Amino acid sequence: MKDAFGRKINYLRISLTDRCNLRCKYCMPEEGVNKFLHDDMLTLEEVFEIAKVFVELGIDKIRLTGGEPLVRKGILGLIKNLSSLDGVKELAMTTNGTLLKDYAGALKEAGLNRLNISLDTLNEEKYKAITRGGDLKSTLQGIEEAKKLGLEPIKINTVLIGGFNDDEIESLVGITEKEEIDIRFIELMPIGQAATWAKEKFIPTSLVLDKVKNLVPIPKEDISSPATYYKLPNGKGRVGLINPISCKFCAHCNRIRLTSQGKLKLCLHSNAEVDIKTALRSGQDLKKLILDSIEKKEESHNLDEGKYISRNMNQIGG
Ligand code: SAM
Ligand code: SF4
Repeated sequence: MKDAFGRKINYLRISLTDRCNLRCKYCMPEEGVNKFLHDDMLTLEEVFEIAKVFVELGIDKIRLTGGEPLVRKGILGLIKNLSSLDGVKELAMTTNGTLLKDYAGALKEAGLNRLNISLDTLNEEKYKAITRGGDLKSTLQGIEEAKKLGLEPIKINTVLIGGFNDDEIESLVGITEKEEIDIRFIELMPIGQAATWAKEKFIPTSLVLDKVKNLVPIPKEDISSPATYYKLPNGKGRVGLINPISCKFCAHCNRIRLTSQGKLKLCLHSNAEVDIKTALRSGQDLKKLILDSIEKKEESHNLDEGKYISRNMNQIGG
């Protein structure tokens, strides 16, 4: 499946729910989200139906996200179904890790290959503050369990927030010295909850290179990855820098997103959406709709222009 700019689209991110057991300040409103009417959400059977069509069209990498994907009931059955599809080479999940201790074994058994775990601080009090009440221990235990089960390579995603975790860059990078874990620093995006204050707390990922002088660049394995990777001289894991603000990776973008309400988003930073749920429920030709939509994928985004999208990140999945 190629778009109008010749980019091969092979990566689908599926948000399974807007709900979450945490309330990260840059992502979710403090009061959480309104419960949707059951009918507004895709059922997991519908998610599978839609995913099957995407896979037939050339999607070979699927990531499940949210909200917190592990709060969606029935997720293991969906993973089993998705992993059995011919054509799916990689089935991954992005999670806050808090429920992983109990889920990691079953996820592996169901066919999940990869995990990205979000963790912004190694300090219990700071974790509680940024997540509005979360328990750091549960995430660390989740990471340990995933490691024990060999659900590797584990990638930890850390959003850089000025005055909050810039003093922890060295210790987070330090994890990659002894562990086969990648730490990826992501620039705070002015989206949804963070739209009004992201600029003020923004720190560029280049600060990581300023603080840890002995990081060595390593060649990019996957041109479509938004991360640029480095390593400590004897490091086991990698250090990735993802800068959606200060550097653009649109030219190699291979991804599209499906929200839990069945809207197809062709670009994370655009408000344009295609209603796949209604099309599915009214028996329209999904393949044609998807191919026509892919043709309209934007060439690039420019966050510097100040045109920020209105949805919160928990509604899109990152
Ligand atoms: N709940 C899961 C988690 O936290 O990993 C999956 C969904 S969460 C929306 C996906 C990713 O988006 C997380 O790594 C989170 O840190 C990131 N994120 C949310 N809001 C963001 C923002 N304003 N800027 C940058 N990253 C953000
Ligand atoms: Fe939940 Fe993930 Fe958003 Fe945090 S970043 S509130 S864990 S969805």
